[in-house]
Amino acid sequence: MSVRPDRDARPRVLVVDDNRPLAENLVELFEELDVEGVIATSAAEARVAIEQRTALAVVDVGLPDASGLELLGQLRAANPNGEVILMTGQGSLESAIAAVRHGAYAYLLKPVDVEELLTLVERALAQVHLREERTALARALAASEALYRGVVDHVEAWIVGFDADDQVALINRQAAEALDAVGLRADGTVPASMLFGDDFAASFDAARAGESAPFEHTLGEGTERRVVRWQLTPVKEARSAVDLLALGLDVTEQRTLERRSARAEAMAAIGVLTTGLAHEIRNPLNAAGLQLQLLSRRLAKSELAAEARERLGEPVALVRRELKRLSSLLDDFLGLARPTALQAERVDLGELVGHVVRLQAPLCAERGVSLESSVPSSDLVARVERGRIEQVLTNLVANACDALDGEGTIRVTLGTEADCVELVVGDSGPGFEEAPEQLLQPFFTTKAAGTGLGLTIVRRIVEMHGGELSLGKSSLGGAEVRVRLPRPG
Ligand code: ADP
Repeated sequence: MSVRPDRDARPRVLVVDDNRPLAENLVELFEELDVEGVIATSAAEARVAIEQRTALAVVDVGLPDASGLELLGQLRAANPNGEVILMTGQGSLESAIAAVRHGAYAYLLKPVDVEELLTLVERALAQVHLREERTALARALAASEALYRGVVDHVEAWIVGFDADDQVALINRQAAEALDAVGLRADGTVPASMLFGDDFAASFDAARAGESAPFEHTLGEGTERRVVRWQLTPVKEARSAVDLLALGLDVTEQRTLERRSARAEAMAAIGVLTTGLAHEIRNPLNAAGLQLQLLSRRLAKSELAAEARERLGEPVALVRRELKRLSSLLDDFLGLARPTALQAERVDLGELVGHVVRLQAPLCAERGVSLESSVPSSDLVARVERGRIEQVLTNLVANACDALDGEGTIRVTLGTEADCVELVVGDSGPGFEEAPEQLLQPFFTTKAAGTGLGLTIVRRIVEMHGGELSLGKSSLGGAEVRVRLPRPG
């Protein structure tokens, strides 16, 4: 956009006088100044003429249809940058004062001195020109500011500018909204340590020395958590209020996806290995189990003394238990290796919870644990693969039962949260002793006979359903596992 007023167009000068010959003479005179002269012989004609932009009007005060003073206001309103020179045949001090008060550039007595008039017209036009240039500049500046602000606000990045004292001098809308969402203030009082981490000062120094490398910092917690990749750039512009520019990209989703795909790859590798090995192991395992059963029976029927039978029976029972463990490990492996395609259908989750609780409650009761459930009275339907969600619940209840070690309560709760269905398994046990990421690692177990695959399988199934798993603390005092599944639209 050009910041200059239209330079090529000649300024328009309107001469308003009921004495046409005089008006024509004046227009001829003004031609020396390279202007476009226009004549009006009445206030009415003048009002029509000023609809086109007029730089200067030379107006006779004594017009037949109005006073030149009245016209003065209208002329100034039509072009605030324009000027008006008034002329009069019968001058008085009062009318001169009134003219100046109404904003006339000059007040001349007729007959006018030609040189004086030309000088005045020239000066007035220079003044108008300056004003127009200033207006055009201000408009161009506002437009360019709006353009930059628009770009800065709408770009998909966080932009935060710091002055030389490390105070926030600029913050774009993306950053302000994101900071609000994680509960940080966006009004310039955001501590840099929150945005960039505790060693931000070192990062700022490095950036100002031109040695900054991109880095990541995590803001907020839980679902509000954002991972931001920052690039700091010094601003080498002496007049700029911003001394250091921080450009941040929200990479939270990207990092989550990367982690998920790394996990999926690991699972796929386990899957390939498992399917290969499962058959090879399953058969000899079954054969060994069978032989041990035979041995137990033979022992029971043997002529041996009870004490001898017991002594021989003990190691047999131990080996059988170990075989059972190996077999369940194999089942877990196969659970991970199952084909990923879901056979999802509409399932009433309340009914499913009831079914699992009915099956598991007696097993829990045998171990001194009470299993409760709380489901809403109305149907809660989700699109899931029934068998897999049953497996999720069974695994979680089994884990809770293990953790309770002989007494306590497990509660399975079904409910809704925003547009999700929530299945929560809480217990009154000791709670999780490790960080969730650790507990969810395949093969991580704190149990002597654990496989460390239960939670891994649970998470895999939940993610296959497009849901989320989170581990936390239960209101019963122990561990809580929360499964969120999307509701069918
Ligand atoms: P496993 O049950 O074979 O150990 P999981 O992956 O199911 O494997 O569980 C991993 C670990 O998580 C357990 O060994 C245990 O330390 C911990 N854990 C799981 N559920 C609970 C719970 N309800 N309370 C306390 N710790 C638990």
